[in-house]
Amino acid sequence: MSLVIVLNELCAGLMLNELWIKRRKLKEWIKSKNFGWFEGHAPGYPSTNNALEGTNQSIKKVHTFRDRIPFSHFLERAKIILNRWSTDQVTIKKWEDEPMIKDAYWFDALAYAQKKPFLKYDKTCDIYLLTLDKMVDLEQYLDNLECDGDCIDECEFVSNLDLNTFFRYNDSVRLVKLDEQNWKFSSCSCRDYLKDYMCQHIIVVLLSKKSIQVPEKYLDSVIGCKPRPGRNKKAMPWNVRQ
Ligand SMILES: [Zn+2]
Repeated sequence: MSLVIVLNELCAGLMLNELWIKRRKLKEWIKSKNFGWFEGHAPGYPSTNNALEGTNQSIKKVHTFRDRIPFSHFLERAKIILNRWSTDQVTIKKWEDEPMIKDAYWFDALAYAQKKPFLKYDKTCDIYLLTLDKMVDLEQYLDNLECDGDCIDECEFVSNLDLNTFFRYNDSVRLVKLDEQNWKFSSCSCRDYLKDYMCQHIIVVLLSKKSIQVPEKYLDSVIGCKPRPGRNKKAMPWNVRQ
């Protein structure tokens, strides 16, 4: 077999492999009946079961001593556990009345604003498109949002992108929808928003509209004369004198 044939076979194999990965990801992440493995699939619900594991740990610590016990003892122990831990599960308990604005979001927003992002308002969708990439075509980006997923296999634009490029393109623009009543309930298309219900992009849009002002305690970071408070220094190895 000549070198050219081997290379052709190899290229074809790689292309097929890439196509297979693309289709596999498409099948698992978008078209599977178990789709939804992403932050923000169920807004308002916990994205980890840490709270549940905390309860489990307390039960283990207080009631089991991590020993095997006879079944009759276990039933008695289970009754005690139920009696102590089975509480009202019907009443909805609110953790917060509105999203918490972390310091990091203010600092990140101020740093983002200094990069002079491009902001465009789309009246039809009532959203702001925010990007640092001046080359991206925002009209086309909006058009692509119309895609309902059924046509993704035939989509001329998306079919030319590999998955990583597609994600980069997707992340190059943030869509921010403002809440006129309470800006803290505004939304964004980024991951931070899906996790914390707040992000730097919302703050950047509001600052550019002059709807909010930078709290005084963050103003130093605008001038850049002081280091950010609250951030830990990078840990040095144990044997390095600091
Ligand atoms: Zn965002």
